Amino acid sequence: MGRQAVDDGFYPPRIAAHELGHILGLPDNRNGRCDYLMSGHSSPTSCQSTTPHSTEAAQVRRNAGGGAPATLTRHRVYADCFRF
Ligand SMILES: [Zn+2]
Repeated sequence: MGRQAVDDGFYPPRIAAHELGHILGLPDNRNGRCDYLMSGHSSPTSCQSTTPHSTEAAQVRRNAGGGAPATLTRHRVYADCFRF
């Protein structure tokens, strides 16, 4: 996973977070900004941010099909199990 990026000097935890972003449905975004996980190779190798930008997190929530945080959704489903 990301061997070339490691060899190029990028921060491995950031590479892992970036690849996880792809798994969650985010595309590459070559805007060069360290505060975006998906900027990938366009960000400087000195960048060690592993936190998604708020717009990236919002996109993942939209991809998951709802605005509610996963914990709230899970809680609602769990509560429904006890209605029978
Ligand atoms: Zn990528």
